[in-house]
Order: sequence, then structure tokens, then C-alpha cells
Amino acid sequence: MPVHYRRQLDAIASYRPGPPPPQRDYPTYKLSSNENPFPPLPSVRQAIADHLGGINRYPQADAAELVSALAERAGVTTDEVVVGAGSVEVISAVVRAVAGAQDEIVFAWRSFEAYPQLVVAAGATPKPVPLTAAWGHDLAAMARAVTAATRCVLVCNPNNPTGTVVTAAALDDFLDQVPDDVTVVLDEAYRHFDRDRDSPDGLDCYRRHPNVVVCHTFSKAYGLAGLRVGQAVMSAALAEQARKVLIPFGVTDLAQQAALASLAAEAELDQRVDQLVARRRQVEAALAAQGWELPASQGNFVWLPTGAVTATATAILDRHGLAGRPFAGEGVRLSVGETESVDQLIAAAAEIRQRLDD
Ligand SMILES: *Cc1c(COP(=O)(O)O)cnc(C)c1O
Repeated sequence: MPVHYRRQLDAIASYRPGPPPPQRDYPTYKLSSNENPFPPLPSVRQAIADHLGGINRYPQADAAELVSALAERAGVTTDEVVVGAGSVEVISAVVRAVAGAQDEIVFAWRSFEAYPQLVVAAGATPKPVPLTAAWGHDLAAMARAVTAATRCVLVCNPNNPTGTVVTAAALDDFLDQVPDDVTVVLDEAYRHFDRDRDSPDGLDCYRRHPNVVVCHTFSKAYGLAGLRVGQAVMSAALAEQARKVLIPFGVTDLAQQAALASLAAEAELDQRVDQLVARRRQVEAALAAQGWELPASQGNFVWLPTGAVTATATAILDRHGLAGRPFAGEGVRLSVGETESVDQLIAAAAEIRQRLDD
């Protein structure tokens, strides 16, 4: 007899990681996972090396030192901070804490690929709301999608994969319309790269709306994607429930130490973020000059709306030694990577543009 499983899982696939870079006799680049192209800082490597001798022990389950440091920075109590093996795990815990069968979760689409999966994993029903024609969140439509069955709304700001942001005013309006008992997750994985002055500050929203959850990660701006550590600020009442559904010991000691060392080296890391933002602007300017009409990106990536020629675009990128993140029929997301990758990206984009204009 075939093994029994939840038929609901037929609606989703397992998480699709960004493809690896092509194998060539010239330099190739992985621009498919929005990773930080800079190598780990020496001080972060040292912190990890200093703690290798303790890996026969379980980590501190409550990550007390890291949680304190994060709480202090956010100006909240430690009861309001939840850490996990990447912010994806924390978002997943929040979803599982607030929603189950018969409950609905609203999110924009296209957005972060993990959302539908973690909603279905919780047993809840995904309620995707299409992006606007300008590739941004349609907050008015999302507010209308909230029903008595809605337990949570996921807002990805800046949005992965399109790089768009909502304005603080639009988000405030939205939060005023959402009932107080519906959790609104602000996924700010890319907030360090956001230079739009009209963007909301998630923590500020949280102070005014206790149903807001603000998620940050060490994976992108801080370059710790391989160690898996992320965090969220939320009401102490919700945090207590979210901790119940977290996998125990999800954040390893090495990850905790690397995160603490990264907080200590924030100024150095911020300089790298500034360089990546400058590089993003350089890429955006070059693409605009080629005739691309792109949504302004506030992430460490750009979105090429290649539509029907997405497969061809992916093949062209591959020929130029680049792995991007294609979404069939929609577009390709390309991370802002190593300095050396920029010329290849611009050359590939020119060729794709020509194909679109033909
Ligand atoms: C990368 C990313 C995250 C963070 O993932 P981690 O689990 O912290 O590595 C969260 N949300 C979005 C939208 C992302 O792109």
C-alpha cells in the first residue's frame, strides 16, 4: 500500500534553490540566491574558529546572548525577540502559531517562493494577491482579500524577486484596515539595501501596531547565509506561541557566535552594503540605457521582466557564465554579485534586450 500523506502537499513543490554557476573555462558567477558576494570578515571567521571545540554540545537553546543584543538594538524586551535557523524558519513558526486548517494567509504574488510552501505546511490556505502592473504589492487588493478566515498577511518589503517597496503611508493605511487580531508579517530580509526614503521602518510600525511581526536575517546584508540565522520582533504574547513550534536548537552555537561577531562589526558590514547598493545602481543605470524598463530595486538584486522569453534569457545568461533565478513566463532575478560579474551581466542583458526588441 502506498504510504499515506497529506494530499494538500500535492499543491506545492519542495523549495527550489538558486541554480549553481555554469562550469566554464572562464569566470562564472552565481547570481541566483541573493547571497552576499563578499567573503566572511576575519573577525567573524575567528569567532567561529574559537567555538569549534564546543560542537559536541548542544547550543544554548534560547540563544540568550544573541537575543539580548538584538532586543537592545531594536529597543524591545528579550520576550519580543524570536531567533531561528534563518528568518524563513521564524516566519514559518509564526504562520504555524497563528494558522491551521480552514485558515487563510494572504500574501502578494509573485513574491518569496517559500511563502506558499510554509502556508501549506501549516495546513492553511494560501491567498495570493497579484502584484500591480508596476511589480509592487497591491495593498488595497490585499486589504480586500482579508476575510474572517484570515489569520496572517505576509508583506515582503523590499519584495523578492521584483525589488519594489511599499511606502510608509500606504502601509499605515493598510495596517489601519487589517483587524488587530490578524498578524501582519513584514519580511524585511533586504532592508539594509533599501535607500527609498518613503519606505516604512518595520520596527516603527510594530511600535504602533502590536499585530505586526518584523523579520530580519543575517543571510543577506551580513553574509551568513550558510550558517542559518534570522530573527523577528513580535509581541511577547505571540513570541511565546511561536517558540513552541520552533525546531529545538535550530540556531547552532557557531551561528550564534557568528551573528554576535557580525553585530560587533556592523560598521564594516555596512560599508559592504553601501558598495553593493552602488553596484546595483550601476547595473540599473546600464540596463536603463539598454532600454529596459525595470522596477527600481531596493534589494541586492534586479528583476528582468523577460516574460515569454524567460527560457531564452536564462540560456543567454548561462552562455555569459551567469546563473540567475528564472520564473517561467515572468522574468529573471539577478543578484548584485562580485564586481567582476557586472560586465558579464550587462553584456548578457544587452543580448536579451535585443531578443525582446526583435
Ligand atoms: C532570503 C530571504 C529570507 C531570509 O532567508 P533566511 O532563512 O534568513 O536565509 C527571508 N525572506 C525573503 C523574502 C528572502 O528573500
